[in-house]
Amino acid sequence: MPLSVAVRGLACALGLALWAGPGSAQLSPPPPKWLYGVTRVAYTDLPDSLRYADWPEKVIADFGKAGVQMMFSRVHNGSEAPGLAWKSAYGPVDPAMQGRDGTREVVALCHKRGIRYIAYYWAQREAASVGVEHPEWCAINSAGLPNGYFCGNTGYRDLVKSRIVELVREVGVDGIFFDMYHVVGDACYCAACRAKFRAETGQEPPVREEFDNPLWQKWVEFRFRSNEAALLEYNRAIKAANPDAALLVNSWNAWVYRNPGNLRNSIRVAECVDGLLEETGWYDTVDPSFFASPAHMAFMNWHLAGLCKGKRAFMWGSPSVPGWMPLGYQEPAIRVMTMLTNGPSRRTPYRAATPWRGTWRTSPSANPTPATRRSPPGAASSCRRRPNSGTGGTTRRTAT
Ligand SMILES: [Zn+2]
Repeated sequence: MPLSVAVRGLACALGLALWAGPGSAQLSPPPPKWLYGVTRVAYTDLPDSLRYADWPEKVIADFGKAGVQMMFSRVHNGSEAPGLAWKSAYGPVDPAMQGRDGTREVVALCHKRGIRYIAYYWAQREAASVGVEHPEWCAINSAGLPNGYFCGNTGYRDLVKSRIVELVREVGVDGIFFDMYHVVGDACYCAACRAKFRAETGQEPPVREEFDNPLWQKWVEFRFRSNEAALLEYNRAIKAANPDAALLVNSWNAWVYRNPGNLRNSIRVAECVDGLLEETGWYDTVDPSFFASPAHMAFMNWHLAGLCKGKRAFMWGSPSVPGWMPLGYQEPAIRVMTMLTNGPSRRTPYRAATPWRGTWRTSPSANPTPATRRSPPGAASSCRRRPNSGTGGTTRRTAT
């Protein structure tokens, strides 16, 4: 055994001893039984704060007729909304609701149709007011600059916990879904993380990536364990409010490819929550040479099954080019036939090989709605990144 491997093995053993516990399956509350009976899910990605022609009344009525058992929509929109989509004791409401309570309305409509309601919460990003009031909650990169995210090792964790408990207890949602709750590259070096890491290791967090360095291994472990501990704490909190409430989290596997800034979640996350969701519509954006639509759907079926370890697996996605523009049958057919003919393209995205396919991206029917079109990441964040802040974690994500 090479010395470096031996050292790495020793370091891993030390790491496990150091970090025993927070993600342990025994400590995780049992998932609600109803979650295992769900086979028909509607992921709307629509905000509760706004109304559209058919949203929410007719959309939810149609879901009811179609036998939908569980529905997602947005109660919290990261940094892209000035407030919450429900009347809360833990933050301002989105003025777009104009005195209404969009989430309570949606919950009532769902329950009237026998549909379980899952509240989509865009985590680690907040309205500008949160960062202004609590700059100490901002995640910090190795250069000492905010990276646009909020850190779960600060008081931000309590804020999120209070909100989701309120959603379960007061608003009556059946579960919470966290999007964007993942480990971020080159972070977090905030005062809280530094102090916690020092207390556990006696050393400062390293800033240079060295996989054979035991301290770097502890730092990697620390970041993933921090994420797991937060999710487990959230799960216990909502279960204390209602044992039948579910906590789901985005696995973030789709986002790790070709982006060192997004480090996704660990395989232990499944032990901390009730289910993982994979968003499959993004592989084309991330790596079109490998995950050609619709092949990624089949790939993720077995990938998720392995990750979930007995917890529920969910997936959303659409055969789309950039992720939010719906496509008809023809585009996926072209891709599959191109791949069968030429094999997966390595360097040149095969979409470029058929220029006229650009019409798929510009047709009026393919335009995103205002609700799903996103501004550049971090644009409205109060933990705004500064120029050259050095975080690659948000450069790609423009929509969910
Ligand atoms: Zn931190």
